[in-house]
Amino acid sequence: MSLNRSRSTKLSDDKEKIHIIGAGPAGVSAVETLRANNFAGEIHLYSAEDSPPYSPAALGEYLLQDEEDILFWKGRNFAEKYHVVEHRNEPVIELDPENNILTSRHSNYHFDKLLIASGSSLHISSVITGHDKPGLLNFKNLSSTEKIKALAQEKGQEAQAIIVGGGFIGVEIALCLAQLGIKPSVLNRRGWIMPRLLDKETASYVVKDLESQGVNVLLNTEGNEFLGEEEITGLKTTSGQILQGDIYIAATGVKPNIEFLDGTSIKTDWGIPVNSRLETNFDHIYAAGDVALTRDFFSGELKSHGLHPVAVNHGRTAALNMLGQEQQYQPMLSMNSLKELNFKLMVVGELNGEVLKKEGEGYLRKIYLQEDRIVGFVLLGDISASGIFLSLLKKKTNVKDLKDKLLNSDFNNSYLTSFI
Ligand SMILES: Cc1cc2nc3c(=O)[nH]c(=O)nc-3n(C[C@H](O)[C@H](O)[C@H](O)COP(=O)(O)OP(=O)(O)OC[C@H]3O[C@@H](n4cnc5c(N)ncnc54)[C@H](O)[C@@H]3O)c2cc1C
Repeated sequence: MSLNRSRSTKLSDDKEKIHIIGAGPAGVSAVETLRANNFAGEIHLYSAEDSPPYSPAALGEYLLQDEEDILFWKGRNFAEKYHVVEHRNEPVIELDPENNILTSRHSNYHFDKLLIASGSSLHISSVITGHDKPGLLNFKNLSSTEKIKALAQEKGQEAQAIIVGGGFIGVEIALCLAQLGIKPSVLNRRGWIMPRLLDKETASYVVKDLESQGVNVLLNTEGNEFLGEEEITGLKTTSGQILQGDIYIAATGVKPNIEFLDGTSIKTDWGIPVNSRLETNFDHIYAAGDVALTRDFFSGELKSHGLHPVAVNHGRTAALNMLGQEQQYQPMLSMNSLKELNFKLMVVGELNGEVLKKEGEGYLRKIYLQEDRIVGFVLLGDISASGIFLSLLKKKTNVKDLKDKLLNSDFNNSYLTSFI
């Protein structure tokens, strides 16, 4: 039974109503948890897009292989399966937290409990003028990715793409386009790519691989004006260079979707700060996923994590608390890998502190220690030690007596049973 785009909340007023703003991994995980724990009330699920719930982390596979099963990872019939009132393409525009009313593009709805899981969108600084002209795409949502796909097909191989921003998303779209035969150029204003995730040395391996796959990497290059009248025809850099392409993509960062909270008494910062139960400053209103600010594993600071497993974990934790089960969110580690590279790469935790390093042909192992405990590591080429390093890190094991072994290539997951 899918009650797609219902306008009414009067279906059965005696039933408890949980409304969820956002059908990404956080919202979906909350729905699954509610139903798995026998929640028999109404669940309303809002999204700003006209598609079944999808996983943004699978946009690359979708672009390359049309992998709809990976994209719609819970099935196209998710709403039906979980008896959800689905409000597709119905963004929430206002919220009245005191009176439990949300206003969508279409109507007003009353809720008993609310989960805000509205995720994040492209953030582009106003310093780059002309970014609101038609023709600028992003790799953050499905509708824009479909436009990239259509343009790539229309323009054909050898078309040029200009990608502004060399973070994780900029690098991933560059690799995907290169694999489709497009010639991508990635601009990054810093001296190395993915500066939030990678140290300079690891980034240089990634750049070599990008270049070998046909990606033109422009470091220390900052775009500041999109040119063109009706639509974008070029990008001017701060040094006056003009870059022209057939496809223009902004990958300049993300910002949590909280505009609909403007003027409400829900506390916001960069996103929505929540406590360890994922509650906002209203105890019947929760936030989860990219929009929520939760404690960092190391620093304890509140931040938006921007990771799929964190969103899933948040959604689950919030749902259990909504059901009255006391659940504390356990901060998760930052863990990243890039799928389209020619080598395996795993980057985990904090890349700060004493460094132990071993390098070889297509091989890099870097371990970061603070007070003799592993706080982060980079494994490039061979990731067979990921499990043991993760375990030592999470358990905060003192590795002083293991230091001479950690860099040996045979120190890998087979040691798990010996040391843990
Ligand atoms: C290209 C790409 C690759 C990625 N790769 C990885 C990876 O390899 N590993 C990893 O861990 N993470 C990855 N991520 C990040 C991961 O996808 C996100 O952290 C995750 O999707 C966050 O889930 P979420 O549910 O919080 O938000 P989102 O997935 O952003 O979903 C937000 C939902 O809210 C809806 N919405 C927004 N505003 C409103 C509104 N006003 N009213 C109603 N609905 C609204 C949207 O339509 C959407 O349904 C990647 C992201 C991208 C874009």
